Amino acid sequence: VRHREVWKFGGTSVDSAEKRRAIGEKIARADHTDVVVVVSAAAGVTDALLREIAREIDTPDEAPQHLIDSYVATGEMMSAPLVAAAIHASGRPAAVVPATQVFSCDDRFGDGTVQAVLTAPLLRLLRQGVVPVVGGFFGLSTDDRLITLGRGGSDYSAVLLAAALGCDVCLFKAGCDGVYDADPNRVTVARRYESLTHDQACHLATNGAKVLQDKASELARAQKVTVRVRPAFANGSGTVIKAN
Ligand code: ASP
Ligand code: MG
Repeated sequence: VRHREVWKFGGTSVDSAEKRRAIGEKIARADHTDVVVVVSAAAGVTDALLREIAREIDTPDEAPQHLIDSYVATGEMMSAPLVAAAIHASGRPAAVVPATQVFSCDDRFGDGTVQAVLTAPLLRLLRQGVVPVVGGFFGLSTDDRLITLGRGGSDYSAVLLAAALGCDVCLFKAGCDGVYDADPNRVTVARRYESLTHDQACHLATNGAKVLQDKASELARAQKVTVRVRPAFANGSGTVIKAN
């Protein structure tokens, strides 16, 4: 049986053709593993989309949140086919699976919670040797509208998929080789953790050190999903977060 992993790439990992090419090559090299890819919008895109829709609508307070959700999710909708194309160009077939076909959510627009994960479309592609690429951060509401999962929600999408597929998840970050006890850009003596328990990671998160999005870390803890935080474009074991 083939090894399976969810690989999530954040906004600063997918914001140039050069970086997407490197991701494609990395995934092609891992051809011994069934990889399910989750991507964020390119860095800055979600913020720009939020500003744009606020300008477009005179009275943003009255704009239905579900329309805002449909607009801001287009950042992830654009990065998914670009990353899939880069994987394909490296010699491994890839296809985009719309997140609305995978995540059934509640109807709290702007901050949705996923209630069911439909893995069938992903498993079908994996059986065919195709790498599924899913845009993170959104799903389908109870009344079949697009709904977003809250800022940083691609982490949540990735952990949900790992829990549903019974595998580990790697969160790849650009220019970040793991989880530190302080901000390594500001504190020269900051130390990287080799491993953390979910309890320690959640504790760090509430004390200000950003590990992963709230709903994602709670789900990983509840479902005992092993989470690896690794550098996207460098070698290094990063930090592993697991049950104990
Ligand atoms: N693009 C979304 C955000 O910026 C989701 C994510 O990046 O995880 O919040
Ligand atoms: Mg983002």
